[in-house]
Amino acid sequence: MKKNLSFQTKECTNKNCRFRFPLMESEAVINTCPKCESPLKDIGIPYDRHSVQKEDPSPDSFEIHVLLDNIRSLYNVGSVFRTAESVGVKKLHLCGMTTTPDNPRLAKTAIGAEDLVAWEHHNNGLDAAKMLQEQGFSLWAIEGGEEATPLFGLNIPRDNQRIALVIGNELAGIDPEIMGISERILYIPMQGCKESLNLTVAFGIAAYYLRYI
Ligand SMILES: [Zn+2]
Repeated sequence: MKKNLSFQTKECTNKNCRFRFPLMESEAVINTCPKCESPLKDIGIPYDRHSVQKEDPSPDSFEIHVLLDNIRSLYNVGSVFRTAESVGVKKLHLCGMTTTPDNPRLAKTAIGAEDLVAWEHHNNGLDAAKMLQEQGFSLWAIEGGEEATPLFGLNIPRDNQRIALVIGNELAGIDPEIMGISERILYIPMQGCKESLNLTVAFGIAAYYLRYI
């Protein structure tokens, strides 16, 4: 994130409106309310862009890879790159139709993270899953179904764990044969009516939970 973006607070003077928003200093000055066209006033207190303290990378004794199985949306793949970089994922395995950073449009949502996280493309996600198991990874599928257990009930030793989180297609979910060889199937508990979370949100929850469990 760039530090040199500065914002000022504007507020509508119409007391029935009071529309309030940040205006970037480099943007054209707006003097009338976008909602009601009354005059705006400057609040005068600049925004402070709060940075987050960096942690040291986690030790390699707990190594997380991610297998993305046929993720259709460029936006979702870019967002996974960004989260993966933040949480210390070591490598992304982009399988089947999953877009790779060779597509320049991915950079828009990955905002540079695509250059910081190692990745490989595999035409066949099942072959990639088996390769990871041969390298000592446990496959942990983030998915629902009768065999799934809740993510938040996990009790895992942190020593010498190599985990490959498996995230499936937006509509189809995870390849049934990859599910069949996965060591664990983990679901994220849901309230309300929807059956599942957006996959990037699910990945973010699972990756952060595993990192800090
Ligand atoms: Zn207004």
